Amino acid sequence: MNRIPLVAGNWKMHGSCQQVDQFIAQVDAEAPPSGVELLVCAPFTHLARLAVGLAGTPFAVGGQDLAGEVAEGAYTGEINGAMLADVGCSHVIVGHSERRIHHGEGDALIARKVGAAIAAGLQPILCVGETLAERKAGTAEQVLQQQLQMVLHDNDAETLARLVIAYEPVWAIGTGHSATPDQAQAMHAFMRAQIAAKDVKLARSIRLLYGGSVKPENAAALFVEQDIDGALVGGASLQATSFMDIARAAA
Ligand code: PEP
Repeated sequence: MNRIPLVAGNWKMHGSCQQVDQFIAQVDAEAPPSGVELLVCAPFTHLARLAVGLAGTPFAVGGQDLAGEVAEGAYTGEINGAMLADVGCSHVIVGHSERRIHHGEGDALIARKVGAAIAAGLQPILCVGETLAERKAGTAEQVLQQQLQMVLHDNDAETLARLVIAYEPVWAIGTGHSATPDQAQAMHAFMRAQIAAKDVKLARSIRLLYGGSVKPENAAALFVEQDIDGALVGGASLQATSFMDIARAAA
């Protein structure tokens, strides 16, 4: 099956209105590659400005988190999926390891957020990945299986067709030490097999992104692997030039 690659940026807690405008100007000045979907996931405060500025470019805009609640109400500080869609988002990251670690998000809440994203018409990017200790203990696959289990169990294959999964080993995020293409491919093949146990057609079509210190220099070697369908990029996505270099490697 021909899966269109997706290169998604995660700006984390970075940026200002000025940087947003700079990014938009850089996108306007470059010719974005075709044959690859492009997405910027930015802090809530930048989303509306990005969506307006990137309209007419191949870039889509996404959030980095959303509330588990679908309906609006008394949830001070929360943003629901409908609010993200309202400002022009098409995607949202769910269960990033920084949310799991710093905000104590567990698999049950993350599964609820995936459901809330889909209910709002968004495409969730579910992040999974093991820590270094778990890899050293030989439990990396078990961790992934656990992190995928609830989402795969709670949703039918038709609903899961909207899902994107990002394998992001915690030890590779922001460290400069990417997983090797072999390591990433092995984990992606494992995830695809887990999904195939639920639905073979879904397993063939679902996009599995790799994230963790992806740079223009290592992107092409990762994208050659048959089960790597793009990337979730942190640091290197802040500049449209390096973002686009990675996207060109995927196209
Ligand atoms: C991320 O933020 O999800 C990420 C993968 O970051 P980096 O590319 O900087 O490792």
